[in-house]
Amino acid sequence: MKRDHAKLICDVGELSGIFHDALGMEDFLQKITVMIAEHMACEVCSIYLYYSDTDELVLKSTHGLNASSVGQVKMKIGEGLTGMALQEKRPICEGQARNNPNFRFFPGIGEERYESLLAVPILRGNVEVGVMVIQSTKKNYFTPEDIQVFRAITAQLATTIETARLLITLNDEGGKKSIPTVGDIKFIKGRCGSEGVAFGEPAVIDAGIDFERFVEEGRHYTEKDFERAVEHSESQLEDLQQQVEKTLYDVSALIFTAQILMLKDKGFTDSILDHVHKGKDPVRAVVLVVKEYARKFEAITDHYLRDKIYDIKDVGRRILENMTGKMGTHDNVIGRIAIAQELLPSDMLKLFTQRAKGIILLSGGATSHVAILARSLNIPLVIAGEEALLNLPPETKILLDAVMGHIFLNPTDEVAKKVMDREDLSRNIGQLKKLIRARPTTRDGVPVKLMANINLLGDLTAANEFKADGVGLYRTEFPFLVRNNFPSEEEQFLIYRKLLEGMPGKQITFRTLDTGGDKILAYYDYGKEENPFLGLRSIRFSLKHKEVFMQQIRAILRAGKGYDIRVLFPMISSLDEFMEAKSVVQECVHALGVDKLAHQAVVPMGIMIELPSVIEIIDDLAQEADFFSIGTNDLVQYLLAVDRTNEKVADLYMPHHPSVLRALKKIVYAAHTHRKDVSICGDMAHDPKFLPLLLGIGLRNFSLDARYLPKIHQRLSEVSMVDAEAMTSQILKENKLVRTAQILDTF
Ligand code: PEP
Ligand code: MG
Repeated sequence: MKRDHAKLICDVGELSGIFHDALGMEDFLQKITVMIAEHMACEVCSIYLYYSDTDELVLKSTHGLNASSVGQVKMKIGEGLTGMALQEKRPICEGQARNNPNFRFFPGIGEERYESLLAVPILRGNVEVGVMVIQSTKKNYFTPEDIQVFRAITAQLATTIETARLLITLNDEGGKKSIPTVGDIKFIKGRCGSEGVAFGEPAVIDAGIDFERFVEEGRHYTEKDFERAVEHSESQLEDLQQQVEKTLYDVSALIFTAQILMLKDKGFTDSILDHVHKGKDPVRAVVLVVKEYARKFEAITDHYLRDKIYDIKDVGRRILENMTGKMGTHDNVIGRIAIAQELLPSDMLKLFTQRAKGIILLSGGATSHVAILARSLNIPLVIAGEEALLNLPPETKILLDAVMGHIFLNPTDEVAKKVMDREDLSRNIGQLKKLIRARPTTRDGVPVKLMANINLLGDLTAANEFKADGVGLYRTEFPFLVRNNFPSEEEQFLIYRKLLEGMPGKQITFRTLDTGGDKILAYYDYGKEENPFLGLRSIRFSLKHKEVFMQQIRAILRAGKGYDIRVLFPMISSLDEFMEAKSVVQECVHALGVDKLAHQAVVPMGIMIELPSVIEIIDDLAQEADFFSIGTNDLVQYLLAVDRTNEKVADLYMPHHPSVLRALKKIVYAAHTHRKDVSICGDMAHDPKFLPLLLGIGLRNFSLDARYLPKIHQRLSEVSMVDAEAMTSQILKENKLVRTAQILDTF
């Protein structure tokens, strides 16, 4: 039988189809084993789950081995080839399993006939979930390609299996949050996180959903009504998932899966039906069980699971809306301004899919990554640390002027019209395109390269529309962030290929995984970190988890075959770190050659200049690196010790600080001395105010969020290099903040 690998990996539809029929977790696991055995054209597929309390792997499902051994076969981590796969966190592939001294024979299981064995650990990040094993009667049956594919499948299934299991075993009780009261506020000055304007009523995301509004005295629903509502909710969520996959290909993986799973979880629906059978109205029963679940989640310390509170409440709201027909109030985000204390990148995507008009965030900074994501999604976002916003009456009209960072509550028609008109004008694509010149230069003819930063593949549209001259920074972490597990090499390969095909003939710079800080991978257990911004992040993470790093590099090199690609390492703090990162790329080039996989063998490698430690060794780095890219978002944060995501110290986040300006000068000078390419990709690059200064210190290469390209084209055409250089030499002599700010503002 032919093995259709692509279908198996990509068919997420089929994956959710499995849940559709599943009566319980064991049934679901069983269906997976059958499906995989069929796809891989082998006789056996088994799933072992890991239980940390007993430190045992237990056979939970099998297709091909004796069914009676399910639940009976147990082994310790490290025991047998299966236990070894989990212990060593790597696939074990044997052409004749019995020849391996680690092979362990379990009587009665029916394994005698099988020769080839492939065991792959199921991991959510670095958390052990179990092991999946396939076996064949043929010797030397599984190929290196099979190993890759099988790893991709287990990675995809890890969270689903884990979520299902955890849903069933939740027992703890938790506390409740208190809600502050509303003040009499009309206008709030916040900060712009993502430009744009929106007008609508509030939807408070984390103040809790008002479930009581669904309860209506005298109105009764039946068990059938409940079942219909669940069915309807399921198909709505599946539609949403499909929609998100179409529009956000690179970050869509399983984004609504947790909610779909909760709906399909027998434990959840049965608890509701239990109450109904005891005489409770279905509406009250849903409210009761959702609150109970939310409390249980709240009591959990694992942040990955705590994040599911939003999901469970949202599922409850959806069922109740479908049952009662009471839609579109305060806690439904469609067409509203979502207000949240805190948001994860995945929440941001949900809000986008659920068509929130705008967002107010009570914490976070303008250069934080949820703000960066909001810009890519084109959602206006204002950051304002005003707690009272969480208690706005549902009928409040909010005008969000996310260009100025203003929030108006119940504004007059005149104010609303003025702001909306201004926005319509500034968003006119036709007008904006007129500002773009084929060969951007300063007023006095000095050529400048303007490239785009890409966060989501969707950014390519604006980048092409505004004629970006390549991609100066592709933040590869977004497909890692909005996911339930590390994306496999194949998944990454497909995403990177799409990016390259989206801008043919141009140079594309791939920055390797920049996780940690405010870019936490929900599925990875970082352990307790007092200072995550100074912790296991970015290149440190990649060098510690070489397997993850190599998977990414391999995907980049393979996708980049025949394209003009560069590899950029984030958060490099020393020459040694850079050399180590470079050697990993060399290792991957070598391995791809051995594997006979087409790839780009020679790739320029560069350094993100964003840590203070590199400034004193900048000449040494310039000798070794092929190029520099200056990340001012972090450089400012670390030079000034001001958290870029902390609203409370946002006033101290000052790119015009003399030490920042002088550091920039030094970096550019070193690059020029060593004849190395240098560009800037932090948010300073898109602020017209800084453009003359950046030109004055010698930068000719800028990479910025594509939506800012028209503005920068326009400003560039107004600036003369002679004036910019004169202003720069003056500003670099200043040591007072007020003076540097003044010079920039008045230039
Ligand atoms: C930077 O730090 O300036 C940068 C471009 O990277 P990021 O914003 O993704 O940290
Ligand atoms: Mg950075």
